[in-house]
Amino acid sequence: MGRVVAIVGRPNVGKSTLFNRLTGTHEAIVDEIAGVTRDRNYGKVEWQGFQFSLIDTGGYVLGSEDVFEEEICKQVNFAIEEADLIMFMVDVTTGITHQDEVIANLLRRAKKPIVLIANKVDNPGNSYEASEFFSLGLGEVFTISAITGSQSGDLLDEVVKHLSEHGHEEAPDLPKYAVVGRPNVGKSTLINALLGTERNIVTPVAGTTRDSIYTRYNKFGHDFFLIDTAGLRKRTKVHEDLEFYSVMRSVNTIERADVCIMLIDATEGLQSQDQNIFHLIVRNNKGVVIVVNKWDIMEKDTDSVKEYTEKIHKEIAPFVDVPIVFVSALSKQRIIKVLEEAQKVYENRTRKIPTSKLNNVMLPIIEALEPPMYKGKLVRIKYVSQLPTHYPTFAFFCNLPQYIKESYKRFLENKLRENFDFKGVPIQVYMRKK
Ligand code: GDP
Ligand code: GDP
Repeated sequence: MGRVVAIVGRPNVGKSTLFNRLTGTHEAIVDEIAGVTRDRNYGKVEWQGFQFSLIDTGGYVLGSEDVFEEEICKQVNFAIEEADLIMFMVDVTTGITHQDEVIANLLRRAKKPIVLIANKVDNPGNSYEASEFFSLGLGEVFTISAITGSQSGDLLDEVVKHLSEHGHEEAPDLPKYAVVGRPNVGKSTLINALLGTERNIVTPVAGTTRDSIYTRYNKFGHDFFLIDTAGLRKRTKVHEDLEFYSVMRSVNTIERADVCIMLIDATEGLQSQDQNIFHLIVRNNKGVVIVVNKWDIMEKDTDSVKEYTEKIHKEIAPFVDVPIVFVSALSKQRIIKVLEEAQKVYENRTRKIPTSKLNNVMLPIIEALEPPMYKGKLVRIKYVSQLPTHYPTFAFFCNLPQYIKESYKRFLENKLRENFDFKGVPIQVYMRKK
């Protein structure tokens, strides 16, 4: 199901203001690990129970004004290819500019839903000024004020309507795995080794929508879909080293997957771009198997696997309950093990713990170590239940949910992991008012 939205538009129209408003992020999120700044241009939006990924393409435009036009055209084309819907933002206070026209020309040819947004309509009385944008030939104009948030609800209604109409893809109810990772880590090599044929490699035509993105795999007792990736189809090899392309492409793939098979290059270790991909997977609540590829060319001794595992754990902490497989895609060593781990993670992600069992295990643990008192008040957890979501989510019912600290939630999560197998699966822990 496609749920990736990209905001495009020239600089200063208000893209990042809208992005922050919709994703609710106002500052860079600094990660606990190694002070890594997470990607500020990617976030999740939830509207009326519907979730989608939002990418602010503008945040990635670097360089001087003259490289801008060429670069923006590339990015807009790429966004058209990878996103399921494009928000095109213009500015009522300036009217149509040459750059707006350039972008509109690209978008008119796209076979994706486009939502045209005229921003900076701070005073609803001024919305008539937006009518000139009809001449861009992109249909209805949504007037909003990104600063005040006025009309952003109508905008979200429209986006969600499109995504739920266009978002369904034909695929039987089988596990969906995606092979993700930086360029050159060995994604195509692994996929080709698994499929044992190169017939599935299709030469893409830039800017066209993809006809089929799932390849069914039915061998060695496994039956699942492999989701098309950059490596599989060798789609436009545009500056994939730029964060923008890497994020657009990874998000698109991750959104469609149940479990992500994340490759890293053993000789290079887990780099910051790998960490970003890992965070994208976790923030999307998808299952993950880490595959350390090119293990054949590593110098090894008896402790190598253990040492390498510890190093990865340091780099992905606090979520370290993840299977790690050491393989060589080139010589097909342990590649079936990758599928076995993915299968287990898939099962873990769909696991539903009966409420009685959950409480029998968790309540004594909570009793033995209760949440700390807050301002002299006892904080009591009464019971817990797993919510009927697509990924494991647990609600702990409590008298004073707002007084439970992150550290205690982390403790509960660890206990859930110790007692029930959720290896490879991000889990959500919520406190609810009883
Ligand atoms: P971007 O380059 O497209 O990401 O644009 P920004 O979000 O950085 O906004 C550019 C400027 O426009 C900033 O000074 C914002 O405060 C301002 N701006 C954004 N949205 C609005 C709006 O709805 N009304 C007004 N008056 N100014 C806005
Ligand atoms: P992708 O960009 O992630 O799809 O990476 P490719 O599959 O194109 O692989 C990039 C390079 O790494 C190619 O030269 C592969 O032959 C090489 N490669 C891939 N897997 C392995 C492996 O397991 N061992 C070694 N030594 N090289 C590999």
